[in-house]
Amino acid sequence: MSKTRVFRFAPSPNGLLHLGHALSAMLNHDLAAACGGRFLLRIEDIDPARSRPEFEAAIYRDLAWLGLSWEQPVRRQSEHLAFYGKALERLKAMGVLYPGFLSRGEVKARVEAREKAGGAWPRDPDGAPLYPTEERHLDRDEAQARIAAGHRHAWRLDMEKARALAPAVLDWQEAGEGPEGETGTVTARPERWGDVILSRPDAPASYHLAVVLDDAAQGVTDVVRGQDLFHATAVHRLLQSLLGLPAPRYRHHGLVPGPDGKKLSKSNRDTGIAAYREKGFLPPDIRALLAGYGLVLH
Ligand code: GLU
Repeated sequence: MSKTRVFRFAPSPNGLLHLGHALSAMLNHDLAAACGGRFLLRIEDIDPARSRPEFEAAIYRDLAWLGLSWEQPVRRQSEHLAFYGKALERLKAMGVLYPGFLSRGEVKARVEAREKAGGAWPRDPDGAPLYPTEERHLDRDEAQARIAAGHRHAWRLDMEKARALAPAVLDWQEAGEGPEGETGTVTARPERWGDVILSRPDAPASYHLAVVLDDAAQGVTDVVRGQDLFHATAVHRLLQSLLGLPAPRYRHHGLVPGPDGKKLSKSNRDTGIAAYREKGFLPPDIRALLAGYGLVLH
């Protein structure tokens, strides 16, 4: 007997769901239904500064209106901080984390100085400058003293050390495609992200850490999500490898274009699922709208 497949839709309650979320949620739901699999909903409220109960309530309302149903109880990341904390301690014990003390302003100043001098500063797949690597080798006692003195810091992954601990070839199975049409066996290049944050004082687990731990804890076999997270999969594969977690199959889908051809944003009320509902649209109209963008719902 083949294993029951487990799909999940994992929104963050920091804004209203838009058409892109509708696509992700319906794809996950329909793919699960087509293979007799399970469909889970996970609330990714790991960042307390950005998560709001009213957005969580809107998620349930919008998904129910779309005609979707999901298993109970819903996992909420804010209820599993100790679980993420344990994994963080394991990574610290492996020696692949270090405290980074540089502020955003300090990083910006370094980038600007280098670029003014005609040099190039490496950037991640989203275009953000990589964090400087100078603190990787900061003296342990000095780092401890700074932490004890209350200096603001984030725990960062030493990408070089982490990469060295993982298999030389790290890849994933892509059933959808990346922004450049990448599909099939895709080589993960987590080093493109530099020393990513895994924990900050105000958000004890980063998206990257919580997502891989939850996918494994919930037995997720299939991760179906927007292409904007395609490159992040490389970091997820690295963390799965370090923590001995299984690799799900991935399927990244195309993004729904905004009215101005730009990326849809949760802060734009006009393209929210609720706005369509208020304008008199019905769920089949939403499916037709998505199909009109060439986004296939199967
Ligand atoms: N919580 C993430 C978001 O809303 C999605 C996580 C995922 O699907 O891996 O963008």
